[in-house]
Amino acid sequence: MRKRRKAEGGIGVAVVAGGAGFIGSHLCEFLLQRGYRVVCLDNLLTGRLENIAHLTTDNGRRKAGNGGRFEFRRVDITNPRAVKNALKHLKKLDVIFNLASPASPKDYQAFPLETMRVGSEGTRNLLELAREQGVIFIHTSTSEVYGDPKVHPQTEDYWGNVNPVGVRSVYDEAKRFAEALVMTYHRLYKIPVRIARIFNTYGPRMKFDDGRLIPNLIYQALNNQPMTIYGTGRQTRSFCYVSDMVLGLYKLIDCSDPYPINLGNPKEYSVLVCARLIKKLTHSQSRFLFQPLPSDDPKRRQPDIGRAKRLLNWEPKVSLKEGLIATINWFRGEFSK
Ligand code: NAD
Repeated sequence: MRKRRKAEGGIGVAVVAGGAGFIGSHLCEFLLQRGYRVVCLDNLLTGRLENIAHLTTDNGRRKAGNGGRFEFRRVDITNPRAVKNALKHLKKLDVIFNLASPASPKDYQAFPLETMRVGSEGTRNLLELAREQGVIFIHTSTSEVYGDPKVHPQTEDYWGNVNPVGVRSVYDEAKRFAEALVMTYHRLYKIPVRIARIFNTYGPRMKFDDGRLIPNLIYQALNNQPMTIYGTGRQTRSFCYVSDMVLGLYKLIDCSDPYPINLGNPKEYSVLVCARLIKKLTHSQSRFLFQPLPSDDPKRRQPDIGRAKRLLNWEPKVSLKEGLIATINWFRGEFSK
């Protein structure tokens, strides 16, 4: 286990690329609570300043409550000089988290070239930084590297069933390339790396219109609009609440295994069951509207989290019902603003 170095006024310095996004903003908050100084690098392509507004002030430098340990820098990580400039005031870093990438199918199809570029060049720039500074590099990959899987549940040694030229390939292949890049840097330069393969994660700060299942259904239910179910609704998903995910990512700091680790909730629900639960919890009058299944939409997704349990002593704790209640309450607050 690596000994964490003590940094100025805290436990260490963490760079969170993509920190103004949904998961990234929760991770920044968590790291601050654990005593880290956090530098968030984000170009706001799909992220939002509102996600980190409570951590920072208008000039992006300081905020009472965390002792000025949070900084936001608007930086595109595909630009290596901008990344270096944004961090040049820091004497040393301890850990780099790479979450920068459009993540929802709607976003990565709207920004296909940006998605491929951030997965390849962006990841490489941060790996170079990790190499120069000799720090831990934690990369967020995705269950989409398994494509439309033929093995259930998905274990990390399954190589996947990905359509390399389909509409989702900009994301799937960028993430697969990024994993290869991370492992190459590890093999060539002995950088301490971790790869988290994240499965569907949900919670407050998701964009209601980003096309992902849970925010989409909550938005429709709260507004008594027809709730869209793609296909028969019998396809399954596993949903991990964001606080569970963030704890898993944090635990990777002290894990020395460089190979991919699935992080997600292994409990499988059909889309229809999830939709019924949202309808009940929101007391909605909405009806279900069945639409054709989008191209390359996976029929089943379920993580085998055996490695995460063994290596990180981690497993999700928040039930779907508890997580949905927290998410619905947050969306209600947002809509009443
Ligand atoms: P998100 O879109 O909310 O956050 C991604 C962030 O990256 C955004 O703030 C965006 O502005 C930033 N970004 C994109 N390109 C950038 C660039 N070139 N330079 C700097 N910043 C850039 O998505 P999220 O749901 O929070 O996902 C975070 C990470 O987790 C992503 O890498 C995603 O692939 C991965 N992931 C998420 C899920 C999920 O269910 N949310 C599932 C699997 C994997």
